Amino acid sequence: MPFNEKFHLRIPGPTPIPPRIQQAMTHPMIGHRSSEASTLIRECSDRLKRVFGTQQQPLLLTSSGTSALEAAVVNLLAPREEAIVVVTGAFGERFAKVVERYGFRLHRLNIPWGNACDPDTLKHFIQSYPNVQVVFFTYCETSTGVLNPITELIQVVHRYSDALVVVDGVSCLGAVLSQMDNWNIDILITGSQKAMMLPPGLAFMAVSERAWNKMKQNSVRSFYLDLLAYRSSLEKDSTPYTPAISLLLGLKEALNMLDEEGFNHVIERHHLLKKMTRAGVSALGLKLMTSEQDASPTVTSIYGGEGWRSDDLRHILRQLGMVVAGGQQHLKGEIFRIGHMGYCDAFDIITVLSALEMALTKMNVPIDLGAGVRAAQEVWRDHV
Ligand SMILES: *Cc1c(COP(=O)(O)O)cnc(C)c1O
Repeated sequence: MPFNEKFHLRIPGPTPIPPRIQQAMTHPMIGHRSSEASTLIRECSDRLKRVFGTQQQPLLLTSSGTSALEAAVVNLLAPREEAIVVVTGAFGERFAKVVERYGFRLHRLNIPWGNACDPDTLKHFIQSYPNVQVVFFTYCETSTGVLNPITELIQVVHRYSDALVVVDGVSCLGAVLSQMDNWNIDILITGSQKAMMLPPGLAFMAVSERAWNKMKQNSVRSFYLDLLAYRSSLEKDSTPYTPAISLLLGLKEALNMLDEEGFNHVIERHHLLKKMTRAGVSALGLKLMTSEQDASPTVTSIYGGEGWRSDDLRHILRQLGMVVAGGQQHLKGEIFRIGHMGYCDAFDIITVLSALEMALTKMNVPIDLGAGVRAAQEVWRDHV
C-alpha cells in the first residue's frame, strides 16, 4: 500500500469522520461552564430532537454507547423487578448482561442470530410474564445486520403489558426514521461513532415522561449515570460533569450536515447503500446473512464461502487498504460485515465491492471481476 494513512474504514463503527467535522473539532478549547458551552449544549440537545423524533430533551453523556444502555437499566429498574430483553445478537446479549449484573430478574427472548424478532413470538413471550416492568430492544442489531421491526414490536408491548420500552438505536439513529414519541418509546439511545459521523465518546438518550416518573421513585445505584442529574443540569443548559466539548463542536457540525442533506435524503441514501451492497455481494455468489426484509440499511453481514474463512478475506482486504469487520462471538470467522452508515456514499460501496472482488480473486475464488460492481451500479442507476 503506497499511503499508510489512506484506508477505507467500512466497519459498523467507528465510522469515517467528514473533514468539516474534523475541522470543527479543532476549535480552541472553551470553558465547560462558559456561556459558549451552555449555548453549544442547548443547541446540540435541541437539534438532536429531530434525530430521535421526540419533544423530550435528549441528554448528552460523555461515554460510549454502552453507558447509555447501562443508564437505562440502572435508572429504570428497582430491586427485584423483572425485565424482558429481546436478544437478536451480541448487543441484545449485552443488554441482558447489564440487567443480570445489577441483579434484576431477566427474561431473555432469544431469537436465532441473523433473524429479526417477529411480533407474534414477542406476543406469546410477553404474555407469560405479566410482571415485567421494562422490555429492552435493539433496533439495529449490529452483530448480524438485522433491523428489528421496532414499531410493530412496541405495539405488541403496549397492547399486552404495561411495561416501559427501551430501544438501543446506537447503530442506526441518524440513518433511519425514528419517531420516539409517536411510537411510544420510553428510552431511546444512540452513540456518536456510528451514523452520527463522530469519533467515539458520546452517548445520547431521550426519556419519556412515563419513564422519568418511574425513575423518580428509584434510588439509583450509579453516580455517573444518574439520569436525573443530567436532566436537572440540562434544564440549566449544562451537564453534571465536564462534557466532551470537542465532540460537541463536532456534533453541531454533524447536525448541520444532516440538515443540509435533508433527513429524508439521509434515510433514502442509506436505503440505496444497503441495496447496492446486497446486490453486489449476491452477484459475486456470496451468501447474505439476513433476508431482504430483515436487513438493516446501515450494516450488511456476509458469510464466508467454500474453502475460505471470512477472516482470510479480511486479512487480504486490509492489505489492499479496505477495513471491514469480522463476526462477533460464535460468528467469528464465519461472517464479515460491511458498515455503510454515516459518511458513506454510493462510490464508497463501489469501492468496497471492487476491493472484495480483488481479494476473492487473490484467494482463487472463481468470480467475474466487475460483476459485483456492475450489479451495484445497476441498482444505483435505477435509483437516480
Ligand atoms: C456500537 C453499539 C453500541 C455501543 O457500543 P460502545 O462500544 O459502548 O459505543 C450499543 N449498541 C449497538 C447496537 C451498537 O452497535
